[in-house]
Amino acid sequence: MIPISEPSLTDRERQYLLEAFDSGWISSRGEFVERAEALLRNATSARYAAVVSNGTVALHLALLAAGVEAGDEVVMPSLSYVATMNAALYIGARPVLVDVDPDTWCVDPHAVAAAITDRTRAVIAVDLYGNPADYAALRNVTASRGIVLIADAAESIGGAMNGVPTGALADISIFSFFGNKIVTSGEGGAVTTDDPEIDARIRQLRNQGNSVERRYFHDVLGFNYRMTNLAAAILCAQLERLEELTTHRREVLDWYESRLKGVAGVRLQSVAADVVRSPWLMTVCVDDWSGAQRDQAISLLAEEGVETRPSFVPMQDMPYVKTPERISTPISAKIGREGISLPTFPGLTKEQVDHICERLLAAVRGLD
Ligand SMILES: *Cc1c(COP(=O)(O)O)cnc(C)c1O
Repeated sequence: MIPISEPSLTDRERQYLLEAFDSGWISSRGEFVERAEALLRNATSARYAAVVSNGTVALHLALLAAGVEAGDEVVMPSLSYVATMNAALYIGARPVLVDVDPDTWCVDPHAVAAAITDRTRAVIAVDLYGNPADYAALRNVTASRGIVLIADAAESIGGAMNGVPTGALADISIFSFFGNKIVTSGEGGAVTTDDPEIDARIRQLRNQGNSVERRYFHDVLGFNYRMTNLAAAILCAQLERLEELTTHRREVLDWYESRLKGVAGVRLQSVAADVVRSPWLMTVCVDDWSGAQRDQAISLLAEEGVETRPSFVPMQDMPYVKTPERISTPISAKIGREGISLPTFPGLTKEQVDHICERLLAAVRGLD
């Protein structure tokens, strides 16, 4: 079976992990935690970086540091991994889900502008499948209104817009280092920002709201969202290999594009002229596929030894979401029905990509 994703782990990761183990510093203190944060500042050009236990809690902390409270509205695209919305729900804030752009599949800045109210405290843009959202347009909407712009860059480390790396494109950015992301620490995440006060709040909140002056005194209600030194050791090795990891994945995406671009009925995600996409999961849409046809293609490909995934489900479709008004996000729904994510990882060969494309196109023709 060709898996959808596979971490690239080398002797460097093993070496650092053993170093952390042998040092005895296996909890959240230890040299790798600070080293990982320095590597992240370097990779993103953000002034501050704080590592945490996963990307979901990074979003939770980003919203809290932005001052989001119960009852506030947080505007975000309806098409994302569910963690984006859940983070707002943890606080009792109201996620306001808006539609995405049909070409980039990222949140539509016009839809964001139309959704702003007096209660809007933050906007979360999502760099879907590694494609940075239109931060220039989004900043025009948020900056003059005192709304905090948050980048869910969980999938987009190594991307850029106008030469500025992801992680430095919004007021606060978050990353995930889950096993299927471009850079992994097993489980892990980070929050980056240029604002020293936001960074200080993130650090305090991830560490149980600890007072910096008085032991066992907690100034605010905080959390244990720390990253372990063991995870940070793996993360350091991965961040030192960022260039290599993204180069290999870019090559894989280029192979896919050369086979699938221009094929009738197959749509690829568009990348804006000023944007460098980060090479996360190769995802394509097939014109007019029903969700059932797409799911059938996933089964057919699995029988032929190729693991794939459906695109994300619009978040308002989750049964626990109580929406006061009916939300309609037709473009997100369409991508949610027609999208299929293909195996993408550094060790994939050109022959494997050729095989996957051939089987995919056979399924596309067969399911007409
Ligand atoms: C992976 C991901 C997250 C959450 O990250 P975890 O580390 O799994 O908690 C959040 N948002 C998006 C868009 C993601 O892809």
